[in-house]
Amino acid sequence: MSIVVDSPVQAALPEIAPTRHVQPPTGEREPLKVSVYERMSKSNAQLMPIFPYDEAGAMVPCGAMLYGGADRSHGHFFHWNTVSELLVAWGSSDAMIATGSLMATQPFHGVNSFLRDEKKEGAFALVTITQRQSGEAGQREALTAKCESCKKDILKFEYDSAPFGAPDFNPTAFGDADDVFRQFSTQWGGTEFVKQRNSDEVRVCQHCGHENYLFDLKPWGWDRLVNQTKVSNAAFHALTNSAKEVLR
Ligand SMILES: [Zn+2]
Repeated sequence: MSIVVDSPVQAALPEIAPTRHVQPPTGEREPLKVSVYERMSKSNAQLMPIFPYDEAGAMVPCGAMLYGGADRSHGHFFHWNTVSELLVAWGSSDAMIATGSLMATQPFHGVNSFLRDEKKEGAFALVTITQRQSGEAGQREALTAKCESCKKDILKFEYDSAPFGAPDFNPTAFGDADDVFRQFSTQWGGTEFVKQRNSDEVRVCQHCGHENYLFDLKPWGWDRLVNQTKVSNAAFHALTNSAKEVLR
C-alpha cells in the first residue's frame, strides 16, 4: 500500500518523491485481536502477556487483575525497568487508578494492589501495562523490597531482560534453549525475587532487625505462569517425540 503525503514542506520541495511506502507485514507477528476482559477472565498471573509476541521491537501489553477479599494480601515492592511502561485502566472500583485512566510510569515505581482497601470484597482494578521490547542491548529490570520499619532496602534483585532478537539475548536466561513458548522475563524475575525476599536472611532486616512479613505470591501468580509455561513446552515436546517414534 502507499500513503500520499501532502504537506506544505513537501510542496516547497518538489524534488522529494510525493509518496512513501509502508512496508508490508513480514508475517513474523500475525495480527491478532483479543478482548482484554475475556482474556483476563481466564488469566493465571499478574502481568500476563495477552498476546504471544515478546521479541525485540514488540509492544507487549500485559494484563493485571487485582481484587480485594478478606484473605487477599498483595504486599509491596518496587519495579525498575529500562524500557517504558504505559498503564491503561480498563475498569476499577475502590482503586487508586480511575476507570479509563492512562499513566506513563516512572522507570522506578512502587507496586501494590492499587486498591484503597485490599481486604474489601468488590474492590478491583483491571489494567494493562504495555512495554516496548528493546531492539538494542542493555534491557534490564530490577525488583526491590524495602524494610517496612526502617524503609531501607532489604533486597534488590536486578537482572538482564534482553528479549529474543536483541543482541544480548540469552536463550537460557529464563527457560530452556529448546523452549517453543518463551518465559516472560518479568514472570521469571518476580518468582526469583519472592524466593529471595522470603528467605530468613533477607526478611529479617540487616539494618534494624525488623522481621518483615512473608510476601504472598498467590495473588500475583508468577510461579504459576512460569510452571505452566514449562509444562506447555514439555507437553509440546512429548507429542513431537511421540509422533517421531510412531512415524519412524
Ligand atoms: Zn529495617
